Amino acid sequence: MKNVIVIGSGIAGLASSIRLAIKGYDVKVFEVNSYPGGKISSIKMDGFRFDGGPPLLTMPHYIAEIFELAGENPNNYFKYKKKEISCVYFWDDGTKFIAHSDSEKFAIEASKTFKEPEEKIKKYFKRAKKKYDLISSIFLEKSLHKIQTYLSFKILKSLFQLRIFEIQKSLNQANSDSFKSKHLIQFFNRYATYNGSNPYQTPGIMSVIQHLEKNYGTYVAEKGMFSIAESLFELAKKVGVKFEFETEIDNIIIDSNKKISGVKSKKKTYNADIVISNMDVYYTFNKLIKNIKKPLKILNQERSSSAVIFYWGVKKTFKDLDLHNIFFSKDYKSEFKSIFKDKNVSEDPTIYINITSKEIPSDAPKGSENWYVMINTPPDYGQDWSKIVKNLRSIVIKKLSIQLEVDLEKMIVSEKIITPRIIQKNSKSYMGALYGTSSNDLFSAFLRHPNFSTRVKNLYFCGGSVHPGGGIPLCLLSAKIVDDLIPKSQNEL
Ligand SMILES: Cc1cc2nc3c(=O)[nH]c(=O)nc-3n(C[C@H](O)[C@H](O)[C@H](O)COP(=O)(O)OP(=O)(O)OC[C@H]3O[C@@H](n4cnc5c(N)ncnc54)[C@H](O)[C@@H]3O)c2cc1C
Repeated sequence: MKNVIVIGSGIAGLASSIRLAIKGYDVKVFEVNSYPGGKISSIKMDGFRFDGGPPLLTMPHYIAEIFELAGENPNNYFKYKKKEISCVYFWDDGTKFIAHSDSEKFAIEASKTFKEPEEKIKKYFKRAKKKYDLISSIFLEKSLHKIQTYLSFKILKSLFQLRIFEIQKSLNQANSDSFKSKHLIQFFNRYATYNGSNPYQTPGIMSVIQHLEKNYGTYVAEKGMFSIAESLFELAKKVGVKFEFETEIDNIIIDSNKKISGVKSKKKTYNADIVISNMDVYYTFNKLIKNIKKPLKILNQERSSSAVIFYWGVKKTFKDLDLHNIFFSKDYKSEFKSIFKDKNVSEDPTIYINITSKEIPSDAPKGSENWYVMINTPPDYGQDWSKIVKNLRSIVIKKLSIQLEVDLEKMIVSEKIITPRIIQKNSKSYMGALYGTSSNDLFSAFLRHPNFSTRVKNLYFCGGSVHPGGGIPLCLLSAKIVDDLIPKSQNEL
C-alpha cells in the first residue's frame, strides 16, 4: 500500500487525510500543535467557553459529505442546526436590521429598514445566484490549473457571459449601482470580509458570497465550532489515519528526479509516496522545500486581512443581541483604506460580536454571556500590536457602551486577546492572514497556488492559502480537489 503524509491537521488536512484513507492509501498526519483543527480551536476560561477561530458556519453539507463518503451518518458525529436570523446589524444613527435567512422575510424587512423596493433586493439576489451558478464549477470545485477544467459546455457558456460577473467593477461599485441606501450598500459590501478582502477593490463577482449565505443559510454547531475538527478527527482515526502531534515537519525530501521521497522532523525521517501540505503554501516553499525554484509571483500575493479578537466573559445578558452581531463603522471606505493601504486599524472600526451562549447556554455561567469581539485588521507587517490593542480596546468598549447603554468595562469579568501575530504563531499562517491571500485583484483566483506542484511530482497542497481559497467550505473543497487529482489506482503514481 502506498503511503501519504499530510503536514498539518487544519480542516483541509483532516478532510484530505480521510479522503485518501477511504481511497485505500496508508495515511499519516503530522501536526506541530497538541490538538487537531489548526485555526478551528476552543478556549475555556473562568467558566466561559469560546470558539477560538472561525465563528460562522456555512455550507455544512461539505462536512456531512465526508462522513457519507466514509459510509457513516454525520449526525452520529457532528450536530448542527440552521439559524433563522443570520445576523443583527447596528448603525451609529440608531438603525437596526435583523437579517433573516429566509429571502422573502429578508426582502420585506430590508425594504422597510432601508427604504429600497423589495423587487430591487430580489433582483440583486437573482443576479448573485446566476453568477454563482455560472462560476462555481470553474472557480470552486475544480483545479483552475488543469486544461480539462475548461473543456466543457457549461464552462464555455460561463465565459461568454462575462458581463453578468461584474468583474470590471468593484463590489462596492456593483452594490452602489444596485441600491441608493448607504446602509444597504454597506451591508452588501461587508461580504468582501468573508474572504478577507476590500469591497472597494475586490471585483463585483464577490456578491456570490452573499448568495452562499442566503441560499444555504447560516448554522450553529451544537457543541461549538471546534466540534467540526473533533468530529473529523474521530472519523479520520476510524478510517485508519494515524496522527503524530507535537511534531513539526522541517523538510520535504525530494529525490533527484524531482519526486517526493519523504519528510523530516528534527528527530526523524519518514518515507512517503505522496506529501500533502496543509501548511501555508508560503511557508511550505520558504521553510520546507530546498533547491526548488519558488513560484515567487504566487507566494508574494497580497495577504488577506487578519484580526484582533477580544474574548470577554460579560456579566450580563443582552436581549437585543443574537449569535452574530455587527456594529458598523460610519465610514466604511476609510476603514478599509486603514486596513489595506495604511496597514493600520481604523479609529472607528466595524465590530463583530459572536455570542455562542445564546445558542449553547453551557458556554457561559447563568446571567452572563461569552463575547467573541472581532475587529478586522491588516495582517502582521511588524506593527506594534500591544499599542494597537490598547487603543482598540478603549475605542471598542466606548462604542459598545454608548450603543448598548451600559458601562461595558465594568461587566467584563474575564479576558483574553489575540492579535495577527498570535494567529500566525498558533497556525503558522504567513503574517497571521485569516484567509491566505486576499481577493483584491481581478486575477486573484488565478494567482492562488494550485492544489498540486508543477515542480515536484506527488506533492499536493490543501487549505486556505491555496486554490480555491480560505474559509471552511473552500478549505474542504481544496481537499476534494486534491482527492480528485490523486489517482485511485496506486500503480499510477
Ligand atoms: C479569527 C478567525 C476567524 C475566521 N472566521 C471564519 C468564519 O467565520 N468562517 C469560515 O468559514 N472561516 C473563517 N476563518 C478562516 C478559517 O478558519 C480557515 O480558512 C481554515 O480554518 C483554515 O484551514 P486550513 O486547512 O487552511 O488549516 P489551518 O487552520 O491554517 O491549519 C494548518 C495546520 O497546520 C499545522 N502546521 C503548519 N506547519 C506545520 C509543520 N511544518 N509541521 C506540522 N504541522 C504544521 C498548523 O499547526 C495548523 O494546525 C477564520 C479564521 C480565523 C483565524
